[in-house]
Amino acid sequence: MEDWRLRGQEEYLTNATLYKITFPEFWQNAYRTKNFFFQKISIYAHRFVAETGRGQEFLVGEKIRHFWHEHCEFCWEKALTDKPSVFYCTEDMYYWICEECFQDFAEQFHWQVKPAEELPGI
Ligand SMILES: [Zn+2]
Repeated sequence: MEDWRLRGQEEYLTNATLYKITFPEFWQNAYRTKNFFFQKISIYAHRFVAETGRGQEFLVGEKIRHFWHEHCEFCWEKALTDKPSVFYCTEDMYYWICEECFQDFAEQFHWQVKPAEELPGI
């Protein structure tokens, strides 16, 4: 039987280079250095508050982390900045893959792994 998690991801994730992200350390570093990941969340958060008039109290300090989450591209497991976990993401940070799915599909998809520090802007 076909694995329920597979829905055609091989079309865009075969031979992909993935960056190994460990939370919450990845967030802690982003918050300290105000790197690309932090800026990405900050821009989204300010736009969200400006457009909806909601969530302003979360723009303060580290609370801004609550504006971000992603889902595993295979099993939908949620990635959060403050939940201890390992995820793998594409260079544009568009696709995220949980540790379990990474282990299950790495061979089939021929993924290459790089450390988080090699992400552009990090
Ligand atoms: Zn998964």
